[in-house]
Amino acid sequence: MTETHEAMAQLEAEVRQCQKCDLCRQRQNAVPGEGDPASVIMFIGEGPGADEDEQGRPFVGRSGQLFARTLAEQGMRREDVYITNVVKCRPPNNRDPLPAEIAACREYLDRQIAIINPRIIVTLGRISMQRWFPGARITQIQGKARNIGLGRCAIPLLHPAAVLRDPRRRADFAKILARLPGLIRRAQKANEEAARGERLPAGVPHPEDAPPEPSPPQDSGSQASLFDSL
Ligand code: URA
Ligand code: SF4
Repeated sequence: MTETHEAMAQLEAEVRQCQKCDLCRQRQNAVPGEGDPASVIMFIGEGPGADEDEQGRPFVGRSGQLFARTLAEQGMRREDVYITNVVKCRPPNNRDPLPAEIAACREYLDRQIAIINPRIIVTLGRISMQRWFPGARITQIQGKARNIGLGRCAIPLLHPAAVLRDPRRRADFAKILARLPGLIRRAQKANEEAARGERLPAGVPHPEDAPPEPSPPQDSGSQASLFDSL
């Protein structure tokens, strides 16, 4: 096991025991996340549903199957990417997670991002999107990648459950996922170049990063500069 895999296994074990918020009370299983922690890309959903709670695995219910099938159609395997959620325990009746629950669980997501050190973060649905695209409307920005600093970009995607509810959204969903293999290759190449010292690695400040606070909040990621870091 590499250091990265060990660190993630340790974190996943902690999450399974966690009692930091009330969502631990009704869960059957916490759902830390799964996949390859050495991947350049991670997908972040909202929170476990009933099937995920039962199995302790992310995105295994109906919407998860749609997601995995669409990934596969685009030549990606779920075991080659990392998949997790904003909150790791199921909110009762699948309600939205509360701000306090999101805050309590944020430590785990932050540590997962640090361990994976992804170049690409794909948010699935509004709750996950809010962290990097506050106030945005998912239907207006889906698929638009944005530089979020540290050599990473975030790409907002509809939640697969929303695609299940409205099959007209399927084509757009698939079209956005279809762009990912190319971006993944670019990200891998960027990491190879970084390993040779030819560019900055992910996870460290990049020259094109937005300045730290206080700063004008708008336009930290113009489309033009998007993949300057890749
Ligand atoms: N919906 C999510 O947001 N996450 C899952 O893991 C399953 C369904
Ligand atoms: Fe812990 Fe997160 Fe589960 Fe709350 S949702 S109990 S913070 S793992």
